Amino acid sequence: MTTTLNPRQFAQRCLLAPDWLLLAQGPGREHAVVLDGACFEAVGPLNELRVRYPDLTVIDLPGKLIMPGFVDSHHHLTQAFGKALVFGEPSEIFRRVWVPMESGLTPDMLYLTAKLASLEALRGGFTTVCDAGTRAAEGLDAIARATTEVGLRCVLAQVCNDRRGSEVLDAAPILARAEQHIAGWQGQPLVTPSLAIPIPEIATDAMLHRVSSLCAEAGILFQTHANEHLVAVERSLEQRGLRPVEHLYQAGALGPQALLAHATLLTPDELMMLRDTDSAVSYNPVASAWKGNAVAQAQMMRSLGIRVALGTDGTRSDGFRLLDYAEAAQRFAFGMAVGDSSCGGGWPWLEQGTLGGARVLGLNTGEIAAGKAADFLLVDLDVPELLPSWDLSWELVRLANRDQIQGVFVAGRLRLWQGWPLDWDARALMREVNELAKSVVSQAPIQKIHPDSTRHREAEQERQYRGAAS
Ligand SMILES: [Zn+2]
Repeated sequence: MTTTLNPRQFAQRCLLAPDWLLLAQGPGREHAVVLDGACFEAVGPLNELRVRYPDLTVIDLPGKLIMPGFVDSHHHLTQAFGKALVFGEPSEIFRRVWVPMESGLTPDMLYLTAKLASLEALRGGFTTVCDAGTRAAEGLDAIARATTEVGLRCVLAQVCNDRRGSEVLDAAPILARAEQHIAGWQGQPLVTPSLAIPIPEIATDAMLHRVSSLCAEAGILFQTHANEHLVAVERSLEQRGLRPVEHLYQAGALGPQALLAHATLLTPDELMMLRDTDSAVSYNPVASAWKGNAVAQAQMMRSLGIRVALGTDGTRSDGFRLLDYAEAAQRFAFGMAVGDSSCGGGWPWLEQGTLGGARVLGLNTGEIAAGKAADFLLVDLDVPELLPSWDLSWELVRLANRDQIQGVFVAGRLRLWQGWPLDWDARALMREVNELAKSVVSQAPIQKIHPDSTRHREAEQERQYRGAAS
């Protein structure tokens, strides 16, 4: 029987009793969780918790699953205005679209684009995103204001490269800004600082080493893009005589603090460099399909003991579709060739999208467990697509959909109910963004290689017409 849920039922402190609870070891029934403010206080069999907490209000959630919120380990929150401009474009979009677009964004615009991206993330079930660092100056405060207002947990990177073309910049102010950034977010529980060098070639080896070491000392994440596509690998070979991961290794920039986005084109030696240094990878399968030319060897990495998280790279913020893509891309790229029909057995993608991601980012989330931050989703399982249910982990990877997410909670607070915020006007934001994005994009010197789909169709029809006439 399904009862109508009221979002106001969810108190600061209560006992949640869903049909299914997604635990670290897999989905469990007859389990419940005690929510206490921003954290989970206890998780265990429902009967035991009822006895242990006789005074707590029990919220029965028939037909529902409580699962950890998704973790997007690689995002660009300030690129939301241009996300639909890049379809069909060849790689290195940053040179033709992102740099021209982002360099024209004022702090107000950065705030709005980051707020739109944050709302999309929550709607897709992400309770945490890791931003790889904006190219726009003064962007960090604007991003943090946006994510915090929306209620999204954010790992926020300060960009620290010291090369601009052939020019080498003074290291001292860059490092001073980095130190300030590391110390600057103490009072903001949803913001975690990080440092980034967007690609290895735009920093000296000394800076790569220094920034990565600063991160290790501070216990934060060092982010970079590495081996994303062939052109990036070949540029690094031309400039440095080394592939990007080899370059990072030689500069002493790898380590448990390092998170490499993409890492799609790795030689066996580079895989071993990641394993031996305990560096982590953000596997971005949708980005591979849309703008890459290879898929990260995520299953191989897992077997080697390399830590892997899932990321969107700002393509689309849809957690369930990301899991599906993560699995499908491994099947297409690697499983089929060797007759591996399970390609990991479903659950690794679910784990990498939740707990694995949280671990890579160094956050106390990603798991429904006592003492963890209460970042979770309330998912409706009472839908035809999940009936009959035989294997919930696999079903969440292949069959579940964003419209089943009833509630999104971050740090124990209900931030979205049935896809919409309860405490601010998302429609007003959408109207404002729509007007602004049109003027920003029309004024930016963006270079698109491919025509839009309507012109593409016209060109094809013209060719067919000419063919018929000749
Ligand atoms: Zn990226």
